[in-house]
Amino acid sequence: MAVSSSPPPGSVLRATAVYKRSEHVAEVVRRCPHHERSNDSNEGPAPPGHLLRVEGNSRALYHEDSNTQRHSVVVPYEPPQVGSECTTVLYNYMCNSSCMGGMNRRPILTIITLETQDGQLLGRRTFEVRVCACPGRDRKTEESNFRKQQESKTSGKTLTKRSMKDPPSHPEASKKSKNSSSDDEIYTLQVRGRERYEFLKKINDGLELSDLVPPVDQEKYRQKLLSKACRKERDGAAAEPKRGKKRLVKEEKSDSD
Ligand SMILES: [Zn+2]
Repeated sequence: MAVSSSPPPGSVLRATAVYKRSEHVAEVVRRCPHHERSNDSNEGPAPPGHLLRVEGNSRALYHEDSNTQRHSVVVPYEPPQVGSECTTVLYNYMCNSSCMGGMNRRPILTIITLETQDGQLLGRRTFEVRVCACPGRDRKTEESNFRKQQESKTSGKTLTKRSMKDPPSHPEASKKSKNSSSDDEIYTLQVRGRERYEFLKKINDGLELSDLVPPVDQEKYRQKLLSKACRKERDGAAAEPKRGKKRLVKEEKSDSD
C-alpha cells in the first residue's frame, strides 16, 4: 500500500481474510479444526483459530469483531526506514488452502486496510492468496497445464473456420476448458520494486485479458491491427500522388470553366 503523506499518528494496518466467492463470503475464514487443535504452532499471542498471523512484530494485536466474528490482525503503521521505500509486514497463513474443514480449497482474499486510531478507513488493498503445502510442485503442475492450454489454443487456430461457423458454442467451450484445468487458482508473487511490479502487472493484465477474449476474437483483433498498419502505410505512400491528382482535376476544371 502506498501513501502520499504520513497517516495520522496512531494509525494501524489491519489484515483480514475473506472468502472470495459470493457463496462463501459470509462465512468467517478460520483455521481448520485440525490445525487449530495442534500444539506445534499454537504458542505465542495469536489465538489458535486465526488464519492470519504477523511474524516478527511484537506489537501485533489479534481481534475478533464482536458483530461479524471476523478475525483480523493489526500492527501499528510504521514509516519506512531512512533509505528504503517501504515497510514490510510478514503475514503467515496458518493453514493450507486445501485444509479440510477450513478453507477447503475455497479461494480467499486478504484485505489490508490502513485505519486511524479510532477506526476511520484511510486506504484499502485486496489481494488473492493461495496457501500450498508444496508451492514448487503446484507451480510446475500449473505451468504445464498453462502450456497445454496455450498449445491447444494455437492448434485451435486451424479450427477457426469451424468455430466461426458455430459461434455460440465457442465461448462455452473455452469456458469449460478453463474450469477443467486448475488455472483459476491464484498465486501471489512478491515483487521487489514498484517499476518491476508495474511491468509484471502489465504482462499479467495482458494475459488476463487474453483469457477473457476467445481465440477467434483475438484473431480478429490481430487482423484489425494488421490492416490498420497496412492502411497507414498505404495512405502515407498515396498522399503525394493524390494531391497531385486533385490539383490536376482542378486545373482541368478551371480550363473548362
Ligand atoms: Zn489447516
